[in-house]
Amino acid sequence: MAPTKRTLLAVPITAADTDSARRQIKSAQTARADILEFRLDYMADADWPTLLAETSLPVIATLRPKDQGGKFTGSEDQRLNLLADIAKARPAFIDFEWPHFESSSRARQLISSITCDSLDAHKPALILSLHDFHSVPANLNEAVTRLSSAPAAILKIVCLANDICDNFPLLDIAQRAGKADTKPTIILAMGQAGQISRVLAAKLGTFLSFSCLSLDEASAPGQIPLDQMHSLYRWESITAGTSIFGVVGSPIAHSLSPDIHNAAFAKANFAGLYLPFLVEPSYESFARFMDGFIKRPWLNLRGLSVTMPHKANALRYLRDNSAHMDSLAERVGSINTIVISSDGQLSGYNTDLDGALDALTSGMGITRPELAGQKVAVLGAGGAARAIVAGLTHAGAQVLIYNRTASRAQQLAQEFSASADPLVDLAQTSARIIINATSIGMYPHVKASPFPSDALKPDMTVFDTVYNPQQTLLLTQAAQAGATTISGTEMFIRQAAKQFELWTDQIAPLNAMQQVLYRALA
Ligand code: NAP
Repeated sequence: MAPTKRTLLAVPITAADTDSARRQIKSAQTARADILEFRLDYMADADWPTLLAETSLPVIATLRPKDQGGKFTGSEDQRLNLLADIAKARPAFIDFEWPHFESSSRARQLISSITCDSLDAHKPALILSLHDFHSVPANLNEAVTRLSSAPAAILKIVCLANDICDNFPLLDIAQRAGKADTKPTIILAMGQAGQISRVLAAKLGTFLSFSCLSLDEASAPGQIPLDQMHSLYRWESITAGTSIFGVVGSPIAHSLSPDIHNAAFAKANFAGLYLPFLVEPSYESFARFMDGFIKRPWLNLRGLSVTMPHKANALRYLRDNSAHMDSLAERVGSINTIVISSDGQLSGYNTDLDGALDALTSGMGITRPELAGQKVAVLGAGGAARAIVAGLTHAGAQVLIYNRTASRAQQLAQEFSASADPLVDLAQTSARIIINATSIGMYPHVKASPFPSDALKPDMTVFDTVYNPQQTLLLTQAAQAGATTISGTEMFIRQAAKQFELWTDQIAPLNAMQQVLYRALA
């Protein structure tokens, strides 16, 4: 097979029998896989020579033994004899494990005789693979140096990432290996923390990345399904020049931000890739993650969304690094957006504040200055309430705060020249704008509402910051009472749109972003 500049997407075929394997091969072709890996240690009852002959895609043949994370339980002699038979069927590649190759002269002799150490050859090209299923070892560079001198066409290094920062040493090797004059190399991190390496492989130009058909059909932890690689991450559009963005949080797997921002980049034809970054909750973890990216300008990290529990960590990190900070965001004490300029300058913003105020004014059909003098009841005194109270008081609104823990309401009111009213008086509030900034009504507790239904009036505007579900019980009851209603999705989309504008200097494709969010929440 001719060397290629584009990083290829490989899919493991893991079905045990011929019919199921044939179905997997067909699905992989339809879902635009570039290469298949026949995991022959899984395909115990499959007629793999026939499947190989039928397949138009290049095939890596792998017969992984148990001690290397595979399912082959026979002796090493049996395995080598089987590999010799497999080579006769001419797969494009044979994968063999470096520790077995390095430690056994019989393995070295046999494997070298049935494979070739270059691409474009008359024999299967040899992939020598080095796995660590526990961690990224401290002596990784030494092991890679030894592996690099081996007679292989392709080198493969795969380690388990226990923390997102474990990706960095692997990405360093990938960056060196992605250069045109080096041997084709596969470098990936396993596990959820390692998922970014599977996508960044395309930016760094390594030989291939492993994907899967579905999570049930994966051959290693952290493989991302092929349809997500294409539709969410736009695999084929990722190049060395792609700018990287992402959301930092813990947990992060269910964040909708990657869907929304990648769709916005696609719509605006912007060369950006947005990833989920699972960063452990402590400040130290956040700082290590940031330092790791910033020390590697070739990763081209240009912007971050920051979510729970890192909004205060982001503020502290930006302060520690003398970054530019939006003054209102600094008063709120929480940063949900970081911009990184091409020369590495950091800036911090709180787009929750703008997102909430834009959702409110657009729902009411007024401008922001028209909020001045309006009486607004804010329910809650947590992070979202802080941003909203800061924004409203800055705009000149008169804010009444109601919160379960009265002392938090009083403290917030004091900080932003608002007033704190007892929760028992909520039904008699004189405010006509009601904002729920508590988590009451949020999935899965969808049968709860923070405001008494009989106190809802037609002349009220009710804005619920909860966005999952899109239509909360509070909004349903407010609409029944004839009030104007505004969903938390409006705030969510507008804070994301503001982030897009800060990162790209372009107007956000609001409709495209809305459609993705509504579809995801439907
Ligand atoms: P937070 O900092 O944990 O604050 C939670 C607030 O809800 C506190 O005021 C808390 O009262 C109150 N609360 C929670 N459970 C309650 C209960 N059972 N009864 C009475 N009060 C209760 O959370 P947050 O980050 O501010 O988030 C609050 C809401 O805003 C969430 O629903 C979130 O989805 C929403 N939000 C929406 C967006 C958006 O873009 N639409 C963005 C950010 C947040 P105590 O002080 O008494 O604990």
